Amino acid sequence: MAERFDVIVVGAGMAGNAAAYTLAKGGLKVLQIERGETPGSKNVQGAILYADAIEKIIPDFRDDAPLERHLIEQRVWVMDDASYVGTHYRSEDFNKPPYNRYTIIRVHFDQWFNKKAREAGVLTICETTVTDLLIEGGKVVGVRTDRQGGEVRADAVILADGVNSRLAVKAGFQPEIKPENVALAVKEIHFLPQETIEARFNIGEEEGVAIEMAGKISAGMMGTGFLYTNKESITLGVGCMLSDFKQQKISPYELLDRMKTHPSIAPLIAGSEMKEYAAHLIPEGGYNAIPQVYGDGWMIAGDAGQFVNGIHREGSNLAMTTGMLAAQTLVELRAADKPFSAANLAEYKKKLDDSFVMKDLKKYRRMPEIFHKNKQFFTTYPDLLSRAAQTLIRVDGVDKKTKEKEIKKSFIASRSLFGLIGDAFKFWRAVE
Ligand code: FAD
Repeated sequence: MAERFDVIVVGAGMAGNAAAYTLAKGGLKVLQIERGETPGSKNVQGAILYADAIEKIIPDFRDDAPLERHLIEQRVWVMDDASYVGTHYRSEDFNKPPYNRYTIIRVHFDQWFNKKAREAGVLTICETTVTDLLIEGGKVVGVRTDRQGGEVRADAVILADGVNSRLAVKAGFQPEIKPENVALAVKEIHFLPQETIEARFNIGEEEGVAIEMAGKISAGMMGTGFLYTNKESITLGVGCMLSDFKQQKISPYELLDRMKTHPSIAPLIAGSEMKEYAAHLIPEGGYNAIPQVYGDGWMIAGDAGQFVNGIHREGSNLAMTTGMLAAQTLVELRAADKPFSAANLAEYKKKLDDSFVMKDLKKYRRMPEIFHKNKQFFTTYPDLLSRAAQTLIRVDGVDKKTKEKEIKKSFIASRSLFGLIGDAFKFWRAVE
């Protein structure tokens, strides 16, 4: 490959496709390299698509993007072994176009997104792995691939190679990812007739429901579960910190199997046919785990840069936004005839800091550490909440004042008064 490019983008996931598309639209000559057989073939996502991020890149994406259902209802369940205490928010406002959130099947969406990038002029090569960055005099000048004679040169390289970027680690741009900064998520897709899904979730033809789950569903580990409705299938998954899996000695498969037998979940997937199983890492170290994201001739976008908002379960939108901002930086520099030096690429970090990406991650910067060190939020409190709800709801001749006293007593017996105050403070610090 003797041809030279303005920019090489590594990866054809959300970040890579957003970057490649934006660069090509900005008039740059782009090579995109993807190790999977097709874009999306290696990608795992639940998956909720946040329209806002893709809309900023392809405003008319709704015309032909493969979208499953638009979400009209959000449920949040805090679970113990037999129950959940939850909130449901459903609004007819979410049923009016343009819709804000959709379920998608990643492999279909990534292929569509990459087709858009190729139509804009990107050259995408699949089944090719970038094995190294070419670095000369401290500057990234291209990549080496696993193809014979596969060195390609470019003025800049965008690393959009996903969580645990081997290329960034190898080049010394970031340290090895720590097990306490990454979650391992497993998911299954369960197929059911469309009418069955609509009846079970009380939704119409194109409407969807998302259920986010916390509490004992993660078996005492720091983690969450999720269930999303697609057109003719249900995505069900759970993810916990890798360090917790190691400590707890429970496998992700066991956790997902246990989840499927929960009395609140089993009826929702009853009679379904499971056709797809996948496991993937999610960077959940948050703001404090974000590495250096630019240097001489290189930038990092998406999961490779730890851009995931774990508490709101947002990842793809941060990936698309960071990919877009990295690309916009290069387009602007090229228009101003400025080199892709580290000093000039600092503009990318400025754009990130000004965006919701860094603002949100900064807001929750203490969350990973606080939740990691305080497992009572995943064990004791779900139990206490469930027992409190049951005490209040059960009609058994006990007066309400006595019931309230019982509930207070159970909280204090489990955590002590100081413990409760301390936990409330910790929770507030985590989300403030
Ligand atoms: P990826 O999508 O992982 O893409 C990276 C690409 O780079 C891959 O295609 C890979 O094959 C390629 N690649 C890697 N190394 C090389 C190499 N050396 N050479 C060539 N190619 C390479 N986010 C949401 O917004 N909503 C959700 O509902 C949601 N649910 C999730 C559920 C699960 C189970 C998981 C695991 C994640 C979920 N996320 C969700 C997070 C979201 O999937 C990621 O944040 C997003 O995919 C990141 O995009 P990316 O482009 O950075 O990385």
